[in-house]
Amino acid sequence: MDAPLRRTWAEVDLGAVRHNFRLVRNRLHTDCLCMAVVKADAYGHGAVPVARALLSEGADWLGVSNITEAVELREHGITAPILILSYTPPAEARRLADYHLTQAVLDEPYAVKLEREAAAADVTVSAHIKLDTGMSRVGFFCGQDSPVDAIARVCAFEHLSVNGIFTHFAVADEPDGEAYTRQQFALFMNTVDALRERGITFALRHCCNSAATLRFPEMQLDMVRAGIVLYGVSPIVQADLRPTMALRTVISQQKTVPAGTGVGYGLTAHTDRPTVLATLPIGYADGLIRLAAETHRVSVGGTTAPLVGRVCMDQCVIDVTDLPSVNTDTVVTVFGDDTVSVLDYAAACRTIPYESFCLVGKRVPRVYSDSLR
Ligand SMILES: *Cc1c(COP(=O)(O)O)cnc(C)c1O
Repeated sequence: MDAPLRRTWAEVDLGAVRHNFRLVRNRLHTDCLCMAVVKADAYGHGAVPVARALLSEGADWLGVSNITEAVELREHGITAPILILSYTPPAEARRLADYHLTQAVLDEPYAVKLEREAAAADVTVSAHIKLDTGMSRVGFFCGQDSPVDAIARVCAFEHLSVNGIFTHFAVADEPDGEAYTRQQFALFMNTVDALRERGITFALRHCCNSAATLRFPEMQLDMVRAGIVLYGVSPIVQADLRPTMALRTVISQQKTVPAGTGVGYGLTAHTDRPTVLATLPIGYADGLIRLAAETHRVSVGGTTAPLVGRVCMDQCVIDVTDLPSVNTDTVVTVFGDDTVSVLDYAAACRTIPYESFCLVGKRVPRVYSDSLR
């Protein structure tokens, strides 16, 4: 491969990903499997290299959001079990089977369509039942009317092979989320118990995301689904995680302007002193969101510098007046080094690290290293 363009790039440390995986696995009960969630291109890190790194560490399953993501992994030779966590059009039944994918079954009408398509294609689709225990998103709704009858009917479908059941927590990562999470867990277990009384059992019962895995180990059951923790962000529980991505760019131009100079589209900023401005070749099309301009400070040579004026599509401007020595080509880190974390960046953008990672644009090359090797 050609050397990546030194314009704007994302450094991904696969060693940090592996370190974070080990930390999670050390907190699992014996016999508890670990699904590494690599949806959304492994939270922007690159699904194939991240999945390979995690499988080399012993990840048992991979979790993705849709069939396109799953097929990408298969086409790169990844044979580990893959669960598609959300919707796949039932018409894809044949491809689900051909690629040996496991599909989340969202409710009975969905299962009926999937069964019909699987029968028409003369295939059997592997499936996990999804329960909605309080997130009100996808899943058999566990409300006043028990979903047990509906699930029992689905489990009898000839062309679905149901071997797992799962749910997803809404507030496992919120400081005051314990009571609600315990309620969701109880609802999950009650439903699984009621199904067992009907003679229906599941090899894999799983409900923990990263936060619940670390915070409520008693809820780990047969498998956990770890996402954000693998990418170095600790949800609520303190853990010795390593950052996995640094978003970097360089200074493309530097100039000194007098006090009172307007900067950028809309001239929303004016210098209040003679100012050294540095332009960076990164904009919102690279994932640097416009809100960042309000309070975010990028990292340059061990200190920080504020953004000035609006973020453009492909560029932005920072104030380097107070920085001792910067030049064109000096590397600037938007987030992900010891000075500015992805948490700092996400907070400045009034969002969460998940979104900060996912928004790193597709034109930003991912550059891989491995600090454990
Ligand atoms: C994204 C996702 C996860 C992983 O969540 P994290 O908070 O990143 O650990 C687990 N389960 C489901 C169903 C998901 O969609």
